[in-house]
Amino acid sequence: MPHWAMVIDLRNCIGCGACAVTCGMANTTETNMWRRVFDCGTLPGAERRRLSLPMSCMQCRKPPCHEVCPTTATYIRADGIVDIDPDKCIGCGYCVIACPYLARVIILRNDALQEGRVMAALSDEHARGDAYCNVATKCNFCKRRVDEGLARGLKPGLDHAATPACVVNCTANALHFGDLDDPQSPVSHLLQESRVMCLQEEIGTQPALYYVVDDTLEVDFAAGSRRES
Ligand code: SF4
Ligand code: SF4
Repeated sequence: MPHWAMVIDLRNCIGCGACAVTCGMANTTETNMWRRVFDCGTLPGAERRRLSLPMSCMQCRKPPCHEVCPTTATYIRADGIVDIDPDKCIGCGYCVIACPYLARVIILRNDALQEGRVMAALSDEHARGDAYCNVATKCNFCKRRVDEGLARGLKPGLDHAATPACVVNCTANALHFGDLDDPQSPVSHLLQESRVMCLQEEIGTQPALYYVVDDTLEVDFAAGSRRES
């Protein structure tokens, strides 16, 4: 069984927001609902680089959202994806409060799905999104693309059709996806070769989203992580 993970190379991200737009289109949600890109300002140093921080559900191995769910609607798949069964969710919002990464949302109005519905009219793929009203919702690593791709013999992380839409449409090669247990996967290579950090590592959620940093980024990123906790 694979263990899916995402690696975000902060050295490459230019903050264009293409991943957030693509996510909304692929999952029939609004832009910035499941995925957001934060502008963290200019880094110290002569180059005056800006730090952009893409965020979504971290697919935690120890997810607080799972602990507080009173109906077992939130569950952890064998491949590590933290998912929500919309038929069991009662919309209580406990998980929205428990998530330290602000990754969950409850869609309260049908018109919040309107943007996705417009896209649904244009494409079969968009018509099969995973957003529902009055229940908790969040990024699920584009599980539909991953599962259907695997069934067709494709390799998530390498074959576009089997890879999360944000990764495929990143304009700067900042997003990478794959199986942590496969030493040849794109994410395994990056984790072996690069300096990586997770957001709020100190609270023990064990995210499956990793951020590649360099010397400059590490200082600012760690400070930002502490500020959020
Ligand atoms: Fe749950 Fe939030 Fe972790 Fe996602 S980031 S698994 S919603 S606690
Ligand atoms: Fe950054 Fe890529 Fe998202 Fe653009 S698409 S904001 S470069 S991660």
